Amino acid sequence: MTDRPGAGWALDYDRLISSRARGIDASGIRRVFDLAGQLEDPVNLSIGQPDFPVPEPIRRAASEAIADGLNGYTVTQGIAELRQRITGRLAGELPHWQPASGEGVADGYQTLITSGVSGGLVLAIMACAGPGDEVILPDPGFVMYRHLVTLAGATPVPVDTYPDFALTADRIEPHLTERTKLVLFNSPSNPTGVVATADQCRDLAELCARHGVLLVSDEIYDAFCFKGSGDLAFTSPAAYSEQVLILRGFSKSYAMTGWRLGYAAGPAPVVSEMTKLQQYTFVCAPSMVQVAGVTALETDISGRIREYQARRDRVVDALGNLYELTRPGGAFYAFPRVPERLGMTATAFVEKAVTEHGLLIIPGNVFSDRDTHFRLSYACADDMLDRGLSILQQMARA
Ligand code: PMP
Repeated sequence: MTDRPGAGWALDYDRLISSRARGIDASGIRRVFDLAGQLEDPVNLSIGQPDFPVPEPIRRAASEAIADGLNGYTVTQGIAELRQRITGRLAGELPHWQPASGEGVADGYQTLITSGVSGGLVLAIMACAGPGDEVILPDPGFVMYRHLVTLAGATPVPVDTYPDFALTADRIEPHLTERTKLVLFNSPSNPTGVVATADQCRDLAELCARHGVLLVSDEIYDAFCFKGSGDLAFTSPAAYSEQVLILRGFSKSYAMTGWRLGYAAGPAPVVSEMTKLQQYTFVCAPSMVQVAGVTALETDISGRIREYQARRDRVVDALGNLYELTRPGGAFYAFPRVPERLGMTATAFVEKAVTEHGLLIIPGNVFSDRDTHFRLSYACADDMLDRGLSILQQMARA
């Protein structure tokens, strides 16, 4: 082996790898995907991205930007045209964002184009939370939240939201301490699809403002709010408070998950710190994708949202009587409970689904301290969804 360069001085990787990296346990989800790797034709209800293609005008805009040579770094905060469109949109939605006169936004607000909402989350958490600080997050909630808080050296404080999955002011209040810096909020939610009511958004925004805590509102699924009877329109808690950091993205709305585009918008003192951190980490969001983002904001995806609404209805119709299921009003997930009489953890249920039925779903403990529910995604073809739902019906009746 000595002919391999440097082989005589092998690194001690146990010493090398940081406790920060080692502290992240990705084994739960990896186990599902390892099992899935052995399947020939899985019924895949595990995917967290839309199944429609990026709309053609957006693809064309990105190709043209590349051909036109827009391939260099952009300014850290993002290209002016995209930021203007975004601030125009926000000023239309949120009265306090409107400038007293002229164009742009009211004083005190800033926007930053990020590398996806993930980029925005990294920067927001790094900018505000460090050792000794606490960050409140929903349980169940998006997998990245806990890990990013831990990476920043801060302490994640999960708040139990079972069984209705609402992260309400009442549930959060007992967890607030003088060390609380941030509350991470996500409506419509991954993994539950639950949409917050306007009252819940208002109470939460007021609670955070009263306690001097920044509310970080992950609005990546804002476009995926359904319009059926019993469904709620999308509300941002930023409608009720100035001290809200909005994170929005293009990944889900325009199926651009691999393109890495999002934005942060909120109080200037926070966004300017995030911009500084972006300068020394991500540098900028991909240049040609920022150009295409302008076209994306002009693209109507309402037809796609109606398709997802119809699929949500199929999921609720098929599983509503067999599983305890909080009706999802948005995103493209449902989070049913494994029937108690089966006497199984969600992990055991998912292993059975994968190995005996070739069905891929995600066990709840990937998102939660509990291992009682599972996430299914209906961002897939209708026939795949129907196959998956009939397997789940069969498993519940077993
Ligand atoms: N937030 C939530 C709730 C998500 O589900 C996801 C993607 N699964 C993200 C953020 C990250 O999205 P992106 O970085 O692609 O914008």
